[in-house]
Amino acid sequence: MARGDMSPSYIGDKSYTELMEPVDYTERDLEAVKALKSFEDERSEQFWIDEAKTRAFLRKEASRGHWGIWEHPSIGLAIENMSVVTERQVTRHRHLSFDIQSMRYVDFSGEKPYATPASLTDPEHKTRGEGLIWYDMQSETPIEEQDPDVESMENAHHVYEKALKNSSKAYNAMRDLGVPKEDARYALPLGTQVNVGMSGNARSFLHVLNLRSRGDAQWEIQDLSDEIVAELEEWIPYTCEWWDEKGPVQISP
Ligand SMILES: Cc1cc2nc3c(=O)[nH]c(=O)nc-3n(C[C@H](O)[C@H](O)[C@H](O)COP(=O)(O)OP(=O)(O)OC[C@H]3O[C@@H](n4cnc5c(N)ncnc54)[C@H](O)[C@@H]3O)c2cc1C
Repeated sequence: MARGDMSPSYIGDKSYTELMEPVDYTERDLEAVKALKSFEDERSEQFWIDEAKTRAFLRKEASRGHWGIWEHPSIGLAIENMSVVTERQVTRHRHLSFDIQSMRYVDFSGEKPYATPASLTDPEHKTRGEGLIWYDMQSETPIEEQDPDVESMENAHHVYEKALKNSSKAYNAMRDLGVPKEDARYALPLGTQVNVGMSGNARSFLHVLNLRSRGDAQWEIQDLSDEIVAELEEWIPYTCEWWDEKGPVQISP
């Protein structure tokens, strides 16, 4: 974690405590790490000091925008039932790596799950475009409150369900007629859900959160961002604590 470029000598044969020796910390850091981390075993005072220094160091580097440090730790996540819409959005992030359930090899006939857009089920759903509530992207507040039109919402939901059934019917019929999965999939809607594996370094994930947890991102990728945050809180708790106070923060130029 402590970067070699700040050390006057080779760091490979030093203990973590030695490496962290020059780092300052405060009583607040010590209290915060004890509150944040729940370790099963009794820990030594030195352990807590190292943790407090880690917290202090990370907060300082994050405040300086010294994001190179966050490129070292990597995380892999398995996500179930992501719509193709969201898959298209998240895979735009080129520093993450992806494995996506194949529609060439996996048969999507039968009862495959589909995502249902929130504007079809939640009358209070907020959206940045035309919709039930206009949303201001900068202040993340509704511009104009409108009375939810529940009847229209229910009708739209019905239209969507019907379209899904028709796509599904077309897919199944083509499969029955001998069309290979890779071609029958052209009839599947963007709401089709796939399982996705994604991995990358901490900086790349923070960049995704910076763009995708905001009010102007779409609801599903915002929800995905919340789930990613829950994972990151276990994995990089001190960074998340800082991010919670200061974020979202621009990680890339
Ligand atoms: C609210 C929202 C709406 C969007 N709407 C659309 C849309 O309508 N149409 C559309 O096509 N896309 C849309 N996007 C996607 C957006 O344009 C980006 O492609 C996507 O968010 C990836 O983020 P990024 O550009 O930061 O790149 P990432 O791949 O996440 O890369 C991270 C950073 O690395 C650097 N970088 C990576 N690759 C390069 C490169 N080749 N050259 C120079 N620098 C690079 C940049 O600094 C970049 O910010 C939208 C995104 C958001 C958040």
